[in-house]
Amino acid sequence: MAIKKLLIANRGEIAVRVVRAAQGLGIPTVQAHSMADADSLAVKMADEAVDIGPPHAAKSYLNIDAILKAARDTNADAIHPGYGFLSENAAFAQAVEDAGLIFVGPRPETISRLGDKAAAREAAETAKVPTVPGSDGLIESTEAAKDAASRIGYPVMIKASAGGGGRGIKIAENESQLEKLVSEARNEAQAAFGNGALYMEKVIRNARHIEVQVLGDGVNAVHCFERECSLQRRRQKVWEEAPSAALNDSQRKAICESAVALARSVGYRGAGTLEFLFDDASGEHYFIEMNTRIQVEHPVTEMITGIDLVAEMIRIAGGEPLRFQQSDVTLNGHAIECRINAEDPSNNFMPGPGVIDRLSVPAADHVRFDTMLYEGYQVPPFYDSLLGKLIVHGPDRQTAIDRMAEALEGLTIDGLKTTIPLHRELAKAAPIRSNDIHTQFLEPWLEANPIPSE
Ligand code: ADP
Ligand code: ADP
Ligand code: MG
Repeated sequence: MAIKKLLIANRGEIAVRVVRAAQGLGIPTVQAHSMADADSLAVKMADEAVDIGPPHAAKSYLNIDAILKAARDTNADAIHPGYGFLSENAAFAQAVEDAGLIFVGPRPETISRLGDKAAAREAAETAKVPTVPGSDGLIESTEAAKDAASRIGYPVMIKASAGGGGRGIKIAENESQLEKLVSEARNEAQAAFGNGALYMEKVIRNARHIEVQVLGDGVNAVHCFERECSLQRRRQKVWEEAPSAALNDSQRKAICESAVALARSVGYRGAGTLEFLFDDASGEHYFIEMNTRIQVEHPVTEMITGIDLVAEMIRIAGGEPLRFQQSDVTLNGHAIECRINAEDPSNNFMPGPGVIDRLSVPAADHVRFDTMLYEGYQVPPFYDSLLGKLIVHGPDRQTAIDRMAEALEGLTIDGLKTTIPLHRELAKAAPIRSNDIHTQFLEPWLEANPIPSE
């Protein structure tokens, strides 16, 4: 049953991205927005807009009843959750289905199984996908944590099973730190995620973050190759690439096949990403988590495969089977994405809202800028700081980096501080150009190479 009208329960650049994909498919759109987002680009672009409540996300973008009412009031028959907010909330997906609507994403039971990080580890083990050595399921007490840690070996990482966005992670170097951190982590996870469940992993030092994009229709699943997201600050991605230049063909095949094995074993439906750590020294990969939604960095995969991932997830939600087999998905060239945030990289990444006085975007076939900005737009202070994503494609990695450097010179966003100066420095940095990086590279590099203020 094809989708007749799609409601977007999100904001910012991803709302704009979903409206565009729906327009490309000829599906009318309804933008659900908070009072703070009445002037947003997605509202202007969508066919209809509905106010779902006050600026505070708990009262609007996280308000399940308000979103379902908005869908009823506008006769939308499907809801796209974007990323963040309710996108990985199984109760929301269930409520959407119970209301007789289509949730653009996996089945609610798949979200519960894979969205819980400790449960996802078990699902990976069942599918014979290698995981990071760690606790058997949740750690129920400090004593159990100590036993598990002495078996795993220090340093260990304590993770919130419901965590995400780089939050809810702590490292213990030894037993006395562990004792202190377990109870701290439990309280923080309870406060931040409403769930104090914890598990533990061995710290893999100097690993790369490599993740695999999958698409499934509930029966079949394919991968769309990998992305490398090793350049991180506070465990949040800053710069992303596809494919990973660190993998040889057999390593690429192994990690992509692991991802498909897990996706198939749960009958995955929709777009999803399996995240792994990759150890250069051993060439081994270890599953860390699955994101059961579209990801921020999906455009780099689109640039190298030519697949419109958001359109595909909407088609699948409408009941279409996957339109390609694995051999139809081919890899062409290299793509890079820089996250442009409303943060001041010369002042400890202090976030700051503002009004966009001037916006100038580089135009070329190999450049794409996914954004919600327009001149005169007032960036509201209530939400995360992502303003847009600058994406380039090239025949190879060196050309893509050169094109990124050039595109960054051509991108002007006046009216607030952005991370553009950071990316200009990254595009010049020798270790990045030689791909000599890992997930703990960027923070010390920033200490040694402070970003000049503009
Ligand atoms: P990606 O894996 O797509 O790079 P991120 O981990 O950066 O995604 O998260 C995407 C968005 O969702 C970000 O805005 C992030 O802050 C938010 N997010 C992710 N997980 C959570 C969570 N558990 N609670 C709140 N926000 C989250
Ligand atoms: P989130 O749900 O917040 O995205 P992840 O489990 O995906 O959390 O981990 C976020 C980041 O933390 C990874 O990309 C990596 O940089 C780092 N990380 C996670 N697990 C480990 C580990 N076991 N060893 C070393 N680094 C890790
Ligand atoms: Mg992650």
